[in-house]
Amino acid sequence: MRQLSASPTARWALLAIFVAVVVAVLPVGAEPSAGLPAPIVAAAPIAAAAPVATAANAPPASVPDGGAAPAVPEPPRIQRVLIISEDGLRPDIVSTLRLPWHESLWQRGSYSWKARTIRTASTLPSHAAMLSGFDVEAHGLTWNNWHPSRGYIKVPTIFDSAIAHGMKTAMFVGKSKLRHIVPPGSVDVFERPGYYCKRVAEDAAAYLVAVKPPLTFVHFSDPDEAGHASGWASEKYKQSVTHSDRCLGIILDALDKSGLAAETLIILSADHGGHNHTHSGALMIDREIPWIARGPGVREGYRIQGPVSTLDTAATALYALGLPIASGLAGKPLKEIFSEQPVQLPPLPPLLVPIP
Ligand SMILES: [Zn+2]
Repeated sequence: MRQLSASPTARWALLAIFVAVVVAVLPVGAEPSAGLPAPIVAAAPIAAAAPVATAANAPPASVPDGGAAPAVPEPPRIQRVLIISEDGLRPDIVSTLRLPWHESLWQRGSYSWKARTIRTASTLPSHAAMLSGFDVEAHGLTWNNWHPSRGYIKVPTIFDSAIAHGMKTAMFVGKSKLRHIVPPGSVDVFERPGYYCKRVAEDAAAYLVAVKPPLTFVHFSDPDEAGHASGWASEKYKQSVTHSDRCLGIILDALDKSGLAAETLIILSADHGGHNHTHSGALMIDREIPWIARGPGVREGYRIQGPVSTLDTAATALYALGLPIASGLAGKPLKEIFSEQPVQLPPLPPLLVPIP
């Protein structure tokens, strides 16, 4: 799936070499097979690091027969991944309430209303699974409160992988306990601007626009708070989800106005659902979560056919950033969400430091 691309200059040079080689080795009258040109592109990994065309390296504007060279614009690349988790957000509520900003994601992206979190459907264990791709037995965060003495997640997270490849990372959360997912040095910026989503969204939006980090996680507390206080699917809960939609709008509006939206893969999901005033994970309604992705190369208005796990969020983020996916990861990249057009993934950045 990963596509290597060459700069226009490199493509022209390689094409010339390719033609010379084919002319030299083919017998007269032989037809080159349709598949022959592919290795030329695949054999140019160095050129893949310099995809931007400039006036200095652009191909000639005309060809010898006088016809204009067709201008083929590069499709937008995924330059960054933004994962937004709305705590306790039930998919049946998202799909039935009038939520304009959520609609702008799922109607223009790929989505599942039947995604599932892990069996331990609590905030900390579930978010640890979402951001590492490992279930509780491996990641070790079995509790659901902030206990500094209990230490940190036991497996690498997607932030470890990004930082190891020199990418800036950030987390803006509403709950302090999520710090257990962030061993020291594994995230450049970890902020808890406030418990509710407005300040979280405002700070995250400002940071995204100013720094443009390749990997960001944002967490809204609001639906979970209303679910515990007033009951999941209650009027208060629905009002809270509507409020979260406005918080989501703060971020999406900032991405739109800054031009970042066109090159950002946005994944919106949740850590668990809920019923009555709780979520134990024993019932499926506690485990069902929304999973929505929108971004470059992502199918629009597409209902995902295959099963979706919160564990897949980590794998999909790594895949979209061009980062290696550990063989033991429990999740898988949801390649189904990408259109059949070649997806322009970024070149793999160098490994700067070993992943712990
Ligand atoms: Zn939660």
